[in-house]
Amino acid sequence: MHNPVFIPGPTNLPEQIRRAVDIPTMDHRSSAFPPMLNAARDGVRSVIKSQAAQVFIFPATGSGGWEAAITNTFSPGDRVLAVVNGLFGQKWVELCKRHRLDVTIIESEWGEDGSGRIANYLTEDKSHLIKAVIATHNETSTGVKADIAGIRGTLDACGHPALLLVDGVSSIGCMDFRFDEWRVDIAVTGSQKGFMLPPGLAIVAFSADAMNATGSAQLSRSYFDITEMSKANSAGGYPYTPPVGLINGLMASCDLLLTEGLEAVFARHHRRAAATRKAVFAWGLELCAQRSEIYSDTVTVIKLPEGADGNLFATHAHDRYGISFGAGLGKLAGKVFRIGHLGSLSDALLLAGLATAEMALVDIQVPITLGSGVAAAQRQFVMGEPFQRKAAA
Ligand SMILES: *Cc1c(COP(=O)(O)O)cnc(C)c1O
Repeated sequence: MHNPVFIPGPTNLPEQIRRAVDIPTMDHRSSAFPPMLNAARDGVRSVIKSQAAQVFIFPATGSGGWEAAITNTFSPGDRVLAVVNGLFGQKWVELCKRHRLDVTIIESEWGEDGSGRIANYLTEDKSHLIKAVIATHNETSTGVKADIAGIRGTLDACGHPALLLVDGVSSIGCMDFRFDEWRVDIAVTGSQKGFMLPPGLAIVAFSADAMNATGSAQLSRSYFDITEMSKANSAGGYPYTPPVGLINGLMASCDLLLTEGLEAVFARHHRRAAATRKAVFAWGLELCAQRSEIYSDTVTVIKLPEGADGNLFATHAHDRYGISFGAGLGKLAGKVFRIGHLGSLSDALLLAGLATAEMALVDIQVPITLGSGVAAAQRQFVMGEPFQRKAAA
């Protein structure tokens, strides 16, 4: 019996997707490959609600997607403005610095979101030296979401031409993401979160403006060069050997998401996040995220009382009960634990995960009442959405 994971990626594999990944050897230069590639790229475009984005699929992970976004778009010394409020934002900025970009960081407390402050920087930048605003849609280390539509609104209000680059690794396929409507210029994600695939793909989407920026971008790039990728993709192929199993899986994943309906997918993530938070409050614990407007729908990060160790919680839950939760990352290590509730789950599995979290909390001597969180989550499931009796046929 295989237990589900409650980490915020890699997520649980639906059987349908697992089978789609497991295909016999395919000659990627044969006529069998282009339809698969095109379907996967079209599927991703639909999932991010775009008509015209150029979608590229690299054998890598989300971090490789960050690198593809940066190296194809900028030149050494280019100025970018980055909103950082957690480990993933921090890591993307670190990557920008290694590529010699001039990064201005809007830093805020982990658990908050500082994207409201970009207006100050944009209005001061009269000569438009800032080439891009970089944001994390869902900061997985803190369980905080950013308002990407709001950032676009600020760029527009300031009349600033900076590109908008968004890390959507733990939001795309789970939370509403509107590439076209928000006029995102580059979106980055990976295979192992909302797409419910094994790790191994970096998925990036470029707007027309971002594609244009590539023409003058001087940063070195080779493996992640979208010009080469784009040329090969238009002919239905790759500049190197594509990971065909994962690409077939991505096609299946998009199918699954689009068949369920994106709004239904987002609604179930929203519901399960609400139930998880109810459990946390019933335990008498606090969230890392400080305001309800910024609560994530994919991961809940929970502060532990002084003296309780989040790393011990995670290793204990795994070793004793065979269930994985996320430990704290970066400067939150030890102080928090994380419950991932994205991708393939059910209400019943989430309740089982919450019940296990309760046992592990009691084991490490956090004073909570067994069953209290589970009951609160059950009430949320029952009352949040009253059961409708079907009318007799
Ligand atoms: C998981 C994740 C990443 C990418 O991590 P990889 O391990 O490289 O796939 C980037 N950003 C966020 C917000 C994430 O959750």
